Amino acid sequence: MIIHVDMDAFYASVEERERPEIAGHPVIVGGAPDKRGVVSAANYNARQFGVHSAMPTAQAVKLCPHAILLPGNMALYSHVSRQIRSVFERYTPLVEPLSLDEAFLDVDASRRLHGNAEEIGKKIKQDIKAELALVASVGVAPNKFLAKIASDIKKPDGFVVVDAEKIQAFLDPLPVNRLWGVGKSTLKHLNKLNVFNIKDIRQLPQSFLQRQLGKHGLHLWELAQGIDARPVVTNHQAKSISNERTFEKDIEDKKVLRAHLLQLVEQVSWRLRQGNLVCRVVRIKIRLSNFKTITRSVTLTDPTQSTQNIWKAAATLLDKFVSENIGPIRLVGFGASDLDHPAPQQGLFSDSIEPQRKIDCVADQINKRFGAAALRRGTFIKVSR
Ligand SMILES: [Mg+2]
Repeated sequence: MIIHVDMDAFYASVEERERPEIAGHPVIVGGAPDKRGVVSAANYNARQFGVHSAMPTAQAVKLCPHAILLPGNMALYSHVSRQIRSVFERYTPLVEPLSLDEAFLDVDASRRLHGNAEEIGKKIKQDIKAELALVASVGVAPNKFLAKIASDIKKPDGFVVVDAEKIQAFLDPLPVNRLWGVGKSTLKHLNKLNVFNIKDIRQLPQSFLQRQLGKHGLHLWELAQGIDARPVVTNHQAKSISNERTFEKDIEDKKVLRAHLLQLVEQVSWRLRQGNLVCRVVRIKIRLSNFKTITRSVTLTDPTQSTQNIWKAAATLLDKFVSENIGPIRLVGFGASDLDHPAPQQGLFSDSIEPQRKIDCVADQINKRFGAAALRRGTFIKVSR
C-alpha cells in the first residue's frame, strides 16, 4: 500500500503557527502584486474568496483585499519540511517527496513493526499534529494515483483509505478531471463524447479512447480502472527530478511565467539537496495553447544543487523561449537530470565552493541548530532582472 501525505495550505499554515496574531484571518503567501508575483499558498479562509495557489497575487488581492499578504520564508518552510520528513522516516525509508509539503510513502515492508498502512497513515497524521502543530491530509491506497486522489478528496484534515476491493466504487462517481492529465481542453473533448465521470471512461473500449486521444487516451483508460504501476522512488534513487504546473488560464505575461518557473526551480533544487544530489542537466518544458510542447535543456559546466545556479541556467533557457515570441502558455515544467552525488571537493569547507551553495548549506545548518527563526533567507532571488 502507498500513503500520500499532503500538508494543508502548508506555507500559510506555518505562518499562522508562527504568528498567532494572524490566525483566523485570510492569509496569502506570495510574490508582490506590483512585481507580477504569484500566490504560493493561501489558507482556507482566503480560499473562500476564490484565492488559490498559482494565481497572480494582484488578482488574489483584488478578490480578498483584507488578506494578510506575506512574502514567504523558504528557509523556514524547508526546516519544517525536514521535520515532517523525519516523521515519515520513522515508519519507512521509502519516501518520495514531491515538494516541501507532499510525499508518497511505500509502507509494505513496515507492517510488522508499525502495523498496516491505515494505522501508519493515522500515526503520521497524529505525529505531525502533536509535534508540529500542523495539519496533514492523508490518503492510503494500493497505488500512487489512488493515494493522491484519496488525500485530496476530503481536504482539509482529510483521512481516506481506498481498499483494493473498493477501487471501482471510489473512482466511478468522480469527475473525469480527477484523472491526471485531464485539463480544460481534454475535458471539453471528453464531454463532447458524453464522458463526464470516471465510470464513463472505464466503460469505453480502450481502442476507442486511443483513437480519440492517442496515447493519452490509453493512459486515461488505465487510470480509470485504477491501474498505476509506478513505484515509490526516493530522491536518492531518482534518475531525474522534475515538477510542472498547468495553468487554469493560459499565461501571456512572461514575468508571471518567470515567477512560476522560479517556484519550480526552488522545489526541484530543494529535492536535489534532500537527496544529496547534484545535477548536470537542466530542462524547461513549455506547452503552448495549441498543445505543442517544446523542451530545451542545457548541460552545466559544473554540476550543482544550488537554487541560485540552477535558477541562472533556467532563466537563460526561459529567455530564449521568450525571445522567440511564443504565444500564450498553458504549462511550464522544470527538470534536473544527469544526477550524481557531489564530488568531495564540493564539500562545505572547500575553497572552490559555489557561494550560493554555501548559503544553502549554512542556512540548513543554522536552522538545525537554532531553529528556523534564526535565519530568514526570504525571497533572495529577484524574479525580474
Ligand atoms: Mg499541500
